[in-house]
Amino acid sequence: MNIAEAKSKVVEKGFLDIELDVQMDLFAEIERLKKEKNAIVLAHYYVDGDIQDVADFLGDSLGLAQKAQSTNADMIVFAGVHFMAETAKILNPTKKVVLPDLKAGCSLADSAPAGLFKAFKEKHPDHLVISYINCTSDIKALSDIICTSSNAEAILNSLPKEQKIIFAPDKNLGGYLNKKTGRDMLLWSGACMVHQIFSLEKITKLKVRHPNAKVIAHPECEEAVLRIADFVGSTTQLLKYAVTDKTEEFIVATETGILHQMQKDAPYKTFIPAPPNNGCACNDCPYMKLNSIEKLYLCMEYETPEILMDEELRVAAKKPIDRMLEISRAAGLLG
Ligand code: SF4
Repeated sequence: MNIAEAKSKVVEKGFLDIELDVQMDLFAEIERLKKEKNAIVLAHYYVDGDIQDVADFLGDSLGLAQKAQSTNADMIVFAGVHFMAETAKILNPTKKVVLPDLKAGCSLADSAPAGLFKAFKEKHPDHLVISYINCTSDIKALSDIICTSSNAEAILNSLPKEQKIIFAPDKNLGGYLNKKTGRDMLLWSGACMVHQIFSLEKITKLKVRHPNAKVIAHPECEEAVLRIADFVGSTTQLLKYAVTDKTEEFIVATETGILHQMQKDAPYKTFIPAPPNNGCACNDCPYMKLNSIEKLYLCMEYETPEILMDEELRVAAKKPIDRMLEISRAAGLLG
């Protein structure tokens, strides 16, 4: 397919479907493009290891949002999923934001359709709406404060105890926060297909075979898994804990991409992915894994697919993100 044809099909396909010369050194080409275009590559911990290795900044949602806000680059190349690239655009309207594959969505974001959520919110007019960053810009625009798994507790602690709250879209994270903070937030019933699927039974069996291993879990996991976890935290907190804790073996209940960084930072330790509750042994996020080094190169070279947003929606979605960043800064959570 030639370039013009590939560009015309980018919305339908999600990415530029152009065949590349197999001899091409994509890593060197990406470095060249970064310099030529004053571009920065931001990557989430869940993307493939080779993309993590070419990233200028690797982080979880909070770190990535902060980096997207502070960068001086002209082009932000976002190796992650759509709502993350959209968040970068919300914070940086004058910069070009490109994503390797537009179809890199998120099952959790999809679990909160804006129309239904708006009707739910209208039924509870005395409630403040806190939404996890893993949601669409329409849901952000309907929210008062955005949070991530790194700062959710600090955000809740900044609010009066008697404040009525709707928490969306992740019911598992919301339930975990209710327990941890003693609140009774009204939960939207959304979930992430990757974190929802871990099998308590298989983790328990694995624990018998590895009695010294600690179970570490992301709060998007179901309550039964969180109950048996030795440590619960955001992706960055899990990484930090796995590297600094004295234990040498860990069963990791979150997306497998993080194991790349854990193994890099603590090569002498063993990290075992927690098994999911299905036939195969795979707990990869299918959306994150749509990112490939080839698509990353192509979106940088041809500056498409690009994230474009309606200005009114962008301004409305920015307010609760700014509120999150302010509270996080005051709580000392931003670097
Ligand atoms: S791991 Fe879950 S929450 Fe994260 S991008 Fe994938 S589907 Fe969404």
